[in-house]
Amino acid sequence: MDFKRSFYTVATGPLGTPAAGTDGRAILFSTRTAKTHVLKAQYLEHLDAGRFDELPEEVFDALVQAEAIVPAHENELQVVLNRSRSAVNDSRTLNYVIMPSSQCQLGCDYCGQSHSKSYMKTDIYDQIEARARKMIDLTQHNELHVGWFGAEPLTGLAHIRKVSQRLMALAAELGIAYSAHMVTNGLSLKRAVFEELYQEYKISRFEVTLDGDAESHDNRRHTKAGEKTFDLILKNLVDVAHSPVYAGKGYLLTIRCNVDSRNIDRVVPLIKLLASKGLSDKVRFYTAPVYSWGNDAHLLSLEKAAYGEREIDFMLAQLQYGFKVVPLPSLSPIVCIAVSKDAEVIDSQGQIYNCTEIPLVPLYESADYLLGNVRKQPEVSLQERAFHDWPGEIESNKALWCSKCRMLPVCGGGCPKAWREGNPPCPPAKANIEDRLALAYLYTKNGLTTYAD
Ligand code: SF4
Ligand code: SF4
Repeated sequence: MDFKRSFYTVATGPLGTPAAGTDGRAILFSTRTAKTHVLKAQYLEHLDAGRFDELPEEVFDALVQAEAIVPAHENELQVVLNRSRSAVNDSRTLNYVIMPSSQCQLGCDYCGQSHSKSYMKTDIYDQIEARARKMIDLTQHNELHVGWFGAEPLTGLAHIRKVSQRLMALAAELGIAYSAHMVTNGLSLKRAVFEELYQEYKISRFEVTLDGDAESHDNRRHTKAGEKTFDLILKNLVDVAHSPVYAGKGYLLTIRCNVDSRNIDRVVPLIKLLASKGLSDKVRFYTAPVYSWGNDAHLLSLEKAAYGEREIDFMLAQLQYGFKVVPLPSLSPIVCIAVSKDAEVIDSQGQIYNCTEIPLVPLYESADYLLGNVRKQPEVSLQERAFHDWPGEIESNKALWCSKCRMLPVCGGGCPKAWREGNPPCPPAKANIEDRLALAYLYTKNGLTTYAD
């Protein structure tokens, strides 16, 4: 059989340091399988030149298994897109994102939502449960996963309790698993609240945002009245992470830091501060560029290559201060809930959407992301959702770069809504994947197989 080097591979140049010279190794990352191999640089030359018979047999076999070497006539794009289609079709988890309130205490300057003091009405509990039952019946799920989202979900805590009880009972009745996570601003995430949500309502992952150290965070993530929030959120995080309920459960807390040109220099001070509070081995931390939320917030973000460079500095700082870092992306056949066949977002008034960024954003009021309202129990139509055939859009829409991008299997094509709005959503890994590979080699060694000795 004839072979070729897969298009879906990324390689570093020879590794080493300027002082010591190269050590004769290079790293090859196969994005089709997210497998990484440290190779003699000479093997990489054979691979590039198609001299497969000069590779040792075990190296050749390993690279075939990693799909870094593939049959010469294979249509690789079709293979990748078909895997995405299969992942969507075969998924047996029903993802429900529920917004128990339209209110948030914060007035973040990049937020696109319009908040109001309206909360879930108790009469829609039955309808949410009925809708979930219908979806589970339709596609034979074996797990129901709920994401609590906002506005700020903890402003609707009473509804979280009631709806959780119903959906947990539904999952038990149907004999399927139940799990949950929450995205919260952290202001009301007191230790007792965390302990109750974890123990009683199976919420086992919490994501909280801190945008740099106190000054940079408070400049943009203040209350609607302009009051500071950093100290209170940090205190809550420290209390939660030191709860006996938290101990031994792994990384239940994730801290996200939204970055643009205004706070880019305040990320490392935040990492140091979190470490000084004893959080480095208790929380996951990551940064993300500020993006458009139906507004112009992304205009203050760094250009992608510049951000990619700084992101490597942030990872190095995390490693230095004892955080766990996973530099390499994993496979992403289903990029987000909008491209799944049945995931839904239900807001506090019962409106149903297929994308988390739509509710409460005035710009999208008339867009096709709205699927109906649970009060009317609309028919479940899996074919009429925006992005219901995302692999097909990648294949046919020449405006997207994804069909010619080697990161596609580990990126999934980025945010479809952003593409639609003309904002290419390429993740930072596209710009800094070679540096990430070097970081993985030098510091974490996770998942690297070596054929270079
Ligand atoms: S389409 Fe974009 S904004 Fe909507 S859920 Fe997917 S990734 Fe998020
Ligand atoms: S979004 Fe960007 S990085 Fe991701 S597959 Fe498309 S072109 Fe590649």
